[in-house]
Amino acid sequence: NPQLNKEKVKTTCPYCGVGCGVVVSKKDQAHVDIQGDKQHPANLGSLCIKGKNLAETLDNNNRLKTPVINGEPQSWSRALDYVASKFNQTIEQEGKDAIAFYVSGQLLTEDYYVANKLMKGFIGSGNIDTNSRLCMSSAVAAHKRAFGEDIVPTSYADLLNAEVVILAGSNLAWCHPILFRRLREEKQRRPELKIIVIDPRVTACVELADLHLKIKPQGDLILFNGLLTYLTEQGYIDFEQVSHTTSGLIEALASAKLDNEKLADIGLSQQQLQAFFQYFTQHDKVVTVFSQGINQASQGSDQGNAIINCHLASNKIGRLGCGPFSMTGQPNAMGGREVGALANTLASHIEFDDNAMAAELAKFWQTENLATEAGLKAVELFEAIEQGKVKALWIMATNPVVSLPDHHKVKQALKKCPLVVVSDCVASNDTLEFADVILPAQTWGEKSGTVTNSERRISRQRPFLQPFAQAKADWWIISELAKRMGFAKQFNYQSAKDIFVEHAALSGISSSKATRARAFNISAYQNLTEQQYQQWLPMQWPQANAKQIRLSDQSIFSQQHYFHQDGKARFIAVQAEATDALLDDEFILNTGRNRDQWHTQTRSGKSATLTNRHAEPELSIHPNDAKALQIHQGSIILVENSLGKLLVRVKITAQQRAKEVFMPIHWSYSNNNQGSVSQLVVAKVDRISGQPAFKHARVKLTPV
Ligand code: SF4
Repeated sequence: NPQLNKEKVKTTCPYCGVGCGVVVSKKDQAHVDIQGDKQHPANLGSLCIKGKNLAETLDNNNRLKTPVINGEPQSWSRALDYVASKFNQTIEQEGKDAIAFYVSGQLLTEDYYVANKLMKGFIGSGNIDTNSRLCMSSAVAAHKRAFGEDIVPTSYADLLNAEVVILAGSNLAWCHPILFRRLREEKQRRPELKIIVIDPRVTACVELADLHLKIKPQGDLILFNGLLTYLTEQGYIDFEQVSHTTSGLIEALASAKLDNEKLADIGLSQQQLQAFFQYFTQHDKVVTVFSQGINQASQGSDQGNAIINCHLASNKIGRLGCGPFSMTGQPNAMGGREVGALANTLASHIEFDDNAMAAELAKFWQTENLATEAGLKAVELFEAIEQGKVKALWIMATNPVVSLPDHHKVKQALKKCPLVVVSDCVASNDTLEFADVILPAQTWGEKSGTVTNSERRISRQRPFLQPFAQAKADWWIISELAKRMGFAKQFNYQSAKDIFVEHAALSGISSSKATRARAFNISAYQNLTEQQYQQWLPMQWPQANAKQIRLSDQSIFSQQHYFHQDGKARFIAVQAEATDALLDDEFILNTGRNRDQWHTQTRSGKSATLTNRHAEPELSIHPNDAKALQIHQGSIILVENSLGKLLVRVKITAQQRAKEVFMPIHWSYSNNNQGSVSQLVVAKVDRISGQPAFKHARVKLTPV
């Protein structure tokens, strides 16, 4: 039974990027009560089914009790000494790039900050990447290319003040349920609000749609290039005005035009295309929400930029109710981006190519060993491990054997790696069996720190439970290890607050020679007291006193000032690449979330309410395909390709397009005995972001 350490605690839901506030209170001696926080701006008191049932997940079954080395329980001191000496030995013998950290959007910002500081600041390698690489790194690349910095230029207020909301490759209803609920309420209040869903499947979002574009997979780039051409040809672009704040429009237009004749082949009728173009052009305020359907593609970054291009060209950005809006999947994917824990960013929105800021950062961290080049991105990191280039890996709070593409390759890499350290709150999952050292970490309800949601709002996660057995905060584990590696002075933190104020101070450093200004600046909070940190109210950055003001109804881009050196945004010339034709017996396999489960189920699988709804994975298939294969509702089918095979029950539904099937991502060997769907996904990545194309695997189906 969970033991509350206070009567009532306000914290943040540990699941999705909406970042809902929750209030935890004591129901009786044995139970806690979890309600939505009416004062939290993200959810105003509402919770979805996952948030409502959090109390069912608070047991300590399958928790790690102590550190373990090669199967033997150890004290913290022995385990940390062991890992520190192995890491130092590896650096000495193989070089700093022979070490890597693979971290997670489940970490709190304070954990993320010290992990990034240790790797990039003191080990001196760029080799720290995060599982957020798998869900939104294409959007990050698109933002950086367009705006000069990874900025989400929109917030929930924009969505709720728009005249048209486009959901592009975003199943908001299942993946960000509370935001979808708020959108539905807005539509009920303002029926004139138009909603367009662009998705190959009939998702739950279609219930609200005025227009559903059941587009072919990978048709989005062609569609938005078509929109850009339409904007030009129909005279909707004010070239004079656009040229003041942007560059590259002519090249982007020329490129977009080359995709025009492909418009006929993306599964949409002329009427549907015209309706889409007209909705976009005939309304002043348009928000385009985009998510994994855009990001998880071999041209994910280009697709993001095609969307941003249309908003820049039509001046539908930087005003209330307008803009491209990339939704983050995980509770703290954005916090990881803020500290720089993607392998290709140095720290705190400072890029590797900004020498002046890198010098300031080295001064700030008091290090002479700052990483000078980007590290390995998730998929290439595991390839490098398999090739024997990385000899020591620390995995924190993530389960890459289930979540990365081509898991046989991931397993092979982990088997070959001389030292695998895993810090996690669970005692068993598909990745832990490859660990040489296991470190017990605290879980939600025990941890203390901050998270940032999809609209850049920083909220507190507060502890309300006593830590289980010897479980420790991730920031503590990383700092204690850093001290043993010889960096005691720079990692001498006493609390999460000490780290947060350092992170805040770092966001405020500057150099007169910096190549660009930074929007990410929370330095007003660098002198917070412990009490102020404990009383923190959800805050959206940049702060109201920063140069680029972002209140809920004003733009992050003050007077259309962007963050490239010349202050202008960039159009990016993008064009759809040809894809191989599907063979007669092949199907395109799309993967994604169910509404009622989360990632690899290590938390959500504990809730009977959630698991009762979906006990096993299903393969959704169109009725015509089912007929051709002579299978029935609930039949078992073999799904296979050259990478692996799975036996799975079928769900026949006209919500699928023909020749396309869908499977959820939440099952694996440890909860289903069949392995995860990611084993069928080729490790093909977007060439700019390194994000894997989880939406377009190819498989064959055989009835059994
Ligand atoms: Fe939690 Fe997301 Fe549901 Fe909100 S919408 S309660 S953050 S899972």
